[in-house]
Amino acid sequence: MRKAKDKITKLFDEREIAIRVEELARAIADRLPSDFVIVGLLVGSFVFVADLVRALQRLGCDPVVEFMRLSSYGRGRVSSRNVRLLAEPNLDLGGRAVLLVDDIVDTGRTIDYACGLLRNKGASNIFTCALVDKPSRREVAMDLDFVGFTIPNVFIVGYGIDYAHAYRHLPFIGVIE
Ligand code: 5GP
Ligand code: MG
Repeated sequence: MRKAKDKITKLFDEREIAIRVEELARAIADRLPSDFVIVGLLVGSFVFVADLVRALQRLGCDPVVEFMRLSSYGRGRVSSRNVRLLAEPNLDLGGRAVLLVDDIVDTGRTIDYACGLLRNKGASNIFTCALVDKPSRREVAMDLDFVGFTIPNVFIVGYGIDYAHAYRHLPFIGVIE
């Protein structure tokens, strides 16, 4: 459970994140077809997606933006290993190129589940993008197409990423102890 005063140590500040988001947008704009769909995973990716789509717009991209909601973590810090679908994308993905965006890829179960669901919905080509990757925690083999930051096994919050519903509003990414 969240303590009254958790200690949070800054890992990536606002400027570092902004620079990295611009770089990711450039890499995505170079590689994806012009008419792609972004599907963000709620809730953790909402700030990242908001910044990413505007960086893409500055580069001349016009992506369609949708979200889907999955749940795996519950309230603790350890993945439940059971991914649940809470809300699916409300959009015809048949034959479309999709950029699947998540905040963090940890065991890989969430993004793997999401890829399967998008494939079942007819997406022709799925690209994956994670703001943060923790490769040392991987349990499901997964080659991510675009990664913002690679970090060791620490628990982070901020920039959309919560701990027990708190800290999503922090403008930076920090490690919580
Ligand atoms: P996976 O299914 O890859 O194990 O877990 C992915 C999800 O677990 C992420 O989208 C994120 O919501 C949550 N998660 C993984 N690592 C962290 C972390 O360090 N901090 C927080 N707050 N959530 C995490
Ligand atoms: Mg998430």
